[in-house]
Amino acid sequence: MLIDFEEIHGQSRAKKLIGRLIRSTRVPHALLLTGRQGIGKKSFALASAALAMCRDSENNSFSPCGNCNSCRRLRSNMNPDLILIAPEGTVIKIDQVRNIIPELKFKPSYSAKRVIVVEEAEKMTEEAANALLKSLEEPPPHNIFILLATDAHRLLPTIVSRCCQIRLEPVPHEVLKRIAIDKSGLDNDTADVCAFLAGGSIEKLNEWCTEEKLRTWKEVNQVIENLKTQPVWKFFETAKALTERFDSFEDFVYLIKSKLVLFIRSEIRSKRKERLGKLLDTLDFVEEGEQALRFNVNKLLLAEEIGLAIRECMHEEDSWNKISRTRIYSTL
Ligand SMILES: [Zn+2]
Repeated sequence: MLIDFEEIHGQSRAKKLIGRLIRSTRVPHALLLTGRQGIGKKSFALASAALAMCRDSENNSFSPCGNCNSCRRLRSNMNPDLILIAPEGTVIKIDQVRNIIPELKFKPSYSAKRVIVVEEAEKMTEEAANALLKSLEEPPPHNIFILLATDAHRLLPTIVSRCCQIRLEPVPHEVLKRIAIDKSGLDNDTADVCAFLAGGSIEKLNEWCTEEKLRTWKEVNQVIENLKTQPVWKFFETAKALTERFDSFEDFVYLIKSKLVLFIRSEIRSKRKERLGKLLDTLDFVEEGEQALRFNVNKLLLAEEIGLAIRECMHEEDSWNKISRTRIYSTL
């Protein structure tokens, strides 16, 4: 649990900013880390916590010393001065916040500061958020709150206004690609695909670098390739198989979407603009389908519609009887 900023890829701007804040004499008592899901907010929060908690006051670097009582206890996951709050089920309940409040007025046991990390802070119930707000308004000394959220707009404005906000940027494609090559031993082209699918997130990169996930990517490519030559009835069979076989149908839709984005990029590079409009329309359509998945949409119909749309735009096939796209949503 002792994480050093050195171990975190990218985020050089945020690291410098937070390092300076923590090393300054006026450390903010509440930080808000925002950034898309899977971007590494928790690791970043833990690295910030380790630095703020480290007792080596002579240390001017942005790394915890690793030797003081706080650092040693963090390393063995035995430091009670680090408090983690995460959703229980789908929300962070008021009791989870209330339970920690009495402790805050005491000095930390082993560390220079006590750090309270609130993961997915947007999932606090209103009561929980209001309970936390009281501590943010009159913070007992020696405590630092680090709130994590995908977007500041999803928190109470009163909470946001009391925090020093730091935005984490998506990890650059080239950095992700290098990690995929060095850590997962992927070849250049596969690493390129994985970095693309990861969309700026280390967490997602680790997911996509697995053999199983890469197999689904190959399958999706095959399905798209087959669309060129397959008769309609054959494709409908494939669609049915896809909805049954894919463990996560969301993954299938995501991969289709990614494939479209890659097509669009190559289309832009090749300066052939004829298909671009259609490709962008199809991408919109697939994204709508992705959203609709949250509402129990009929997956088979969605798979069929996506297949037809892709065949039409990628393989320049216009002779299809288009199925009305509203059909997808009629099953909501
Ligand atoms: Zn230390």
